[in-house]
Amino acid sequence: MSVEYPFTVATFYKFITEKKLKAAKCDNCGSVLLPPKPMCTTCFSVNLKWIDVNNTGKLLSYTVIHVAPEQFQSMVPYIVGIIEFDGGLRLPGIIKDVTSEQIEIGMKLKIDFDETTSDNWPKWNRYFFRLA
Ligand SMILES: [Zn+2]
Repeated sequence: MSVEYPFTVATFYKFITEKKLKAAKCDNCGSVLLPPKPMCTTCFSVNLKWIDVNNTGKLLSYTVIHVAPEQFQSMVPYIVGIIEFDGGLRLPGIIKDVTSEQIEIGMKLKIDFDETTSDNWPKWNRYFFRLA
């Protein structure tokens, strides 16, 4: 186990700030946890390691958001979707550069990283998805 990089969402965002998409892989049963958790949800092992996740995937489902929380209000309308990466890992996120007319289930998307941090705590950089 790494003390520097505990298997938490905070460490996940630390890697996002470094423009890396990483998941926790269980050394015992091979399950991959995204977002990471400190214990394997399949076999309850804590014998985990960080692995890189392929940055591209396809759109599984999406919703067009018209009424948003205050910090996202300036982006309305925007699209939130669930992306399935190669290997079957799934992650929800905001999809940019795609309009509600263009969006299509199964379209190829990739993860990208925001340079700006939020004014709100926690000050983590964010990821989003765009056309691959
Ligand atoms: Zn396991």
